[in-house]
Amino acid sequence: MEPIATLGLDSGLEAQPASSRATVARSYQEVPATRWTQRYAQRTQRVTSSAIRELLKLTEQPDVISFGGGLPAPEVFPLIEVNAASQRVLAEHGAAALQYSTTEGYRPLRELLVERMERYGIRVTPENVLITGGSQQALDLVGRLFINPGDRILVEEPTYLGALQAWNAAQAEYVTVPTDDDGLRIDQLESALRVGPKFMYVLPNFQNPGGTTLSLERRQRLVELANHYGVPMIEDDPYGQLRYEGEHLPPLVKLDADLHGCEDGRAFTGAVIYLSTLSKLLAPGLRVGWVVAPEAVIQRLVQLKQGADLHTSSFAQMVAYEAAKDGFLDQHVRVIRKVYGERRHAMLAALERYFPEEVRWTRPGGGLFLWVTLPKGLDSTELLKHALQRKVAFVPGVSFFAQGGGAETLRLNFSYPTPDVIDEGIKRLGEVIKERLASRG
Ligand code: PMP
Repeated sequence: MEPIATLGLDSGLEAQPASSRATVARSYQEVPATRWTQRYAQRTQRVTSSAIRELLKLTEQPDVISFGGGLPAPEVFPLIEVNAASQRVLAEHGAAALQYSTTEGYRPLRELLVERMERYGIRVTPENVLITGGSQQALDLVGRLFINPGDRILVEEPTYLGALQAWNAAQAEYVTVPTDDDGLRIDQLESALRVGPKFMYVLPNFQNPGGTTLSLERRQRLVELANHYGVPMIEDDPYGQLRYEGEHLPPLVKLDADLHGCEDGRAFTGAVIYLSTLSKLLAPGLRVGWVVAPEAVIQRLVQLKQGADLHTSSFAQMVAYEAAKDGFLDQHVRVIRKVYGERRHAMLAALERYFPEEVRWTRPGGGLFLWVTLPKGLDSTELLKHALQRKVAFVPGVSFFAQGGGAETLRLNFSYPTPDVIDEGIKRLGEVIKERLASRG
């Protein structure tokens, strides 16, 4: 039994005289910390807060120009439409919107997503779709379902930090394959596949963090090799529709179906699990993402999701559906493409103008990020400390490397700051880089 004094505010403390209240309050603070901190599960050992996270907290100060987060531009959030959609949901489905609902997700929303995916050659049924709390939850559930401690997962280098965070908690190990301007280096893939990874995690479109896109030839070769070695893939695609130039490239799910000769009807082999999200297309605060997988896998994911949160918010799913339907999502995506396309242009122009010649960067055709490689000898974590003094921030590249490295790289986000702010921020960053280069000699 806990002594009554540690139980908190419901234990009649208010009725006690002030002197005994003080003693009680002290014991309340002292006891629980060690009682819990000594009991953390082993699998949380690698879930730590890094020095970089501590530095990034400083970027939240209002006067810092941040190229750090992956935030959509708040100016383009469809406030009016989401407001109208919320009112319609409450007026037309009030009780259902506030009630518990099925774990699989709101059926009309799943049907709408199926219809949208079909445009890109992903032909599945709503039974293949599970709505998740953003695609981050899908990554977590995938980790829980497939990863035993010590299992090796093949990831790109660099790769999405959120996937590493989710899978570190599942005690994953990693096999990494480097990337270049055309995405994953297919010429280095086979040796990694021979190691026998449990699955591959690939971001073919406007990769986070690199901004790179996997070329069509490489996509085809990737799917062939995955089949040859029998290694399944997770295709994470939050940004595929945010293309600002060039032609859309087919998703790996479709290329896999083509390879197996499924040309009509249900074209889904199940070898590729596909993840996407409404976070970047509507609003991340809705927390609506989805996973496409074979029905048997969906059923297992559903069981795990029940343990995590029962289901994604009924209200958020219905609002997302009401806002997205009848063509609004398409119209809205066109607006976002225009705004982000301008911001990307502003950043590329500012980089040309202000960055020293020795610095290199990617030229993403879409998405939210670009990737900078500094001259040898410059460390981006050190650079961030100096940049913060000039009130400008970014994410050092080391965070995205599953097995260390990348000290001379960094990620810049161009969706959140306006073009003027981008210009000023890149100017400051260029100056800091020049100073560091000069002090390096
Ligand atoms: N995957 C990738 C590659 C991402 O960049 C993000 C968001 N930064 C996510 C998954 C998670 O997005 P959400 O949970 O908001 O859907």
